[in-house]
Amino acid sequence: MAVPDWVPVREELRDEEPYGAPQIDVPVRLNTNENPYGPSEAAAADVAEAVRTAALELNRYPDREAAALREGLAAYLSRDTPAVDLDASRVWAANGSNEIMQQVLQAFGGPGRTALSFAPTYSMYPEYARNTHTRWVAGRRRDDFGIDVDAAVALIDAEQPDVVFLTSPNNPTGTALDPAHTRAVLDAAPGMVVVDEAYAEFRRAGTPSALELLADHGRLIVTRTMSKAFALAGGRLGYLAAHADVVDALRIVRLPYHLSSVTQATALAALRHTDELLANVDALRVERDRTAERLRGLGLTVADSDANFVLFGTFEDRHATWQALVDRGVLIRETGPLGWLRVSIGTPSEMDAFFTALQEVIA
Ligand code: PMP
Repeated sequence: MAVPDWVPVREELRDEEPYGAPQIDVPVRLNTNENPYGPSEAAAADVAEAVRTAALELNRYPDREAAALREGLAAYLSRDTPAVDLDASRVWAANGSNEIMQQVLQAFGGPGRTALSFAPTYSMYPEYARNTHTRWVAGRRRDDFGIDVDAAVALIDAEQPDVVFLTSPNNPTGTALDPAHTRAVLDAAPGMVVVDEAYAEFRRAGTPSALELLADHGRLIVTRTMSKAFALAGGRLGYLAAHADVVDALRIVRLPYHLSSVTQATALAALRHTDELLANVDALRVERDRTAERLRGLGLTVADSDANFVLFGTFEDRHATWQALVDRGVLIRETGPLGWLRVSIGTPSEMDAFFTALQEVIA
């Protein structure tokens, strides 16, 4: 549906659609890589109390620098990857990693500048580029969804991108990046390299985080989110780790008071429940591996996943399969290369419902 002629929108936006997965009200929703486990009563009570306290000061603007929250996030990342030593000056936070990445392109992209990534990957990247008037270049991943490092370096040499987006684990394929490949991209890239680690907590044992590379690479940005592992998608809190000078550059483009005091209080309260929330991550990793096995048991092809979702296929008419699952009350995502579908990992009973429906559909 195009924007009507009388609305004087930028011409390149006229035929665009707002981004988003279909929000269909069915019993089993496994389509947006949410955490199926909500916060516990204790965590919810702590959030409520923190928000109540913040509410008493809602006549005041929030802490513009979100100092306490950034300190808490730095401590969490240092615990996640002990090899890295971070403090608040090297961490930045915003309303979801979506906003983080838009800020990155506002600061490091823009007219006359280029951003590059490797498809299939997160489909919002080209939209951040469009919104910031940044030229967009998409390379290709290999058939096994890894990065062909020689081709990647050649493309970077040819395009000289100001920003490269790598995603590890990648959405929608679940593929983790080989750190040697990340290093090769960092060595070749003339500008900033963003490693989007939205799903990092779900990675399999032995898969390192790009946080380890921060000490040696000033142009590296590692982004994370509380939407997935921390079960805080509704709270909207994304963050990044980088050199303190890079963080300072981002502070130039952020809107004043972009993180509400309610958001800051909510995220800080959630951080206090890190142990409880990460216990659910372990359960989801087990369920993820079980899901991949069960899909393979049905004779389907499954991409190895380090995330909280699995890409599987291939279907001659994937839309028909997707629709047949919706008709049985199970919503998954029609995304990724043609013929593939993506299922987010839910609770064991949600996954049983998914498999019951899928077996009927492919019988
Ligand atoms: N990066 C990737 C790879 C994602 O899949 C998502 C959300 N699906 C995001 C970033 C954005 O997440 P949020 O804005 O909720 O932090």
